[in-house]
Amino acid sequence: RAKRDGRNAYRFFTSEMQAQSARALTLENALRRALERQQLSLHYQPQFALEAGGETRIVGAEALLRWQHPELGWVSPAEFIPIAETTGLILPIGEWVLQEALSQLRRWDQAGLPELTMAVNLSAVQFRNDDLPGLVGRVLHDVGMPAERLELELTEGAAMENPGAAIAVMNELHARGVRLSIDDFGTGHSSLSYLKKFRVGKLKIDQSFVRDLTEDAEDRAIVDAVIRMAAALGLETLAEGVETEGQLEFLRRQGCMAVQGYLFSRPVPADAFAESVLAENPPISAPNSAYALP
Ligand code: C2E
Ligand code: MG
Ligand code: MG
Ligand code: MG
Repeated sequence: RAKRDGRNAYRFFTSEMQAQSARALTLENALRRALERQQLSLHYQPQFALEAGGETRIVGAEALLRWQHPELGWVSPAEFIPIAETTGLILPIGEWVLQEALSQLRRWDQAGLPELTMAVNLSAVQFRNDDLPGLVGRVLHDVGMPAERLELELTEGAAMENPGAAIAVMNELHARGVRLSIDDFGTGHSSLSYLKKFRVGKLKIDQSFVRDLTEDAEDRAIVDAVIRMAAALGLETLAEGVETEGQLEFLRRQGCMAVQGYLFSRPVPADAFAESVLAENPPISAPNSAYALP
């Protein structure tokens, strides 16, 4: 009996594995064509500073990659980014993301949006490439955006893979004026002793610590400790995944400097983003004739 169960379990396991690797292969082949077939796009999620007096003010946008395939539908970045990384496709895709996000920022400037920072996610694979600072510099120059308007998000894993090389790349990006932040802070294997050597200006507190803030005293302790440590090191803090007023209230009270999450907005296409920002922040003077009143 045990034997039969074992055999069934084995058969089930292999067919599931086959299905998984067939899906991975399908996605890999489809992803190779995704850029040229214009199936990739960016959605943008606003980032808000928490100001004294309880105000929130939009200060930035995070660019988040989206892939819509004609037969497969929307594929989650959680599924296709790892495939893009193992195949190396993340290099051309990542360059396109940088180019597209900065071009969008320029169009928003021209449409009279307040001056925002554009946050772009970087894969460890891109970060490993020692031409990264040169590439970033070229794209900024081509688009005509000052480096200060760009913030690159990297994970602890990307930075800790080779800390010596990471420090050199961060120094070069920093020297060019690009801002750096650590994404998903608290979930990776970062050595706290490196935090003061890394040229980062901001810690993005991972949403897994934010989710249960109002019920979980341990998460509150962790978030409180991260905010205080960051402040002592002169780093900014942004909490990710803020979904409720209760979470926002706690973060504000503890001195978290900025927030991002569904409470304010989901990631949305560029036009919807601009529309809602302009509705909240009407341009002070019309920057071009498109916005002039009749
Ligand atoms: P991330 O950079 O940590 O992005 C935050 C993720 O949380 C996004 O998922 C966002 O849609 C989601 N999110 C934002 N607010 C909330 C909230 O209030 N509640 C919940 N439950 N989720 C929220 P998304 O867009 O699926 O992206 C997942 C991950 O894929 C990103 O995590 C990032 O690591 C990666 N990724 C996305 N775009 C790019 C890209 O252009 N390049 C690279 N290398 N990675 C990317
Ligand atoms: Mg991110
Ligand atoms: Mg994150
Ligand atoms: Mg993440």
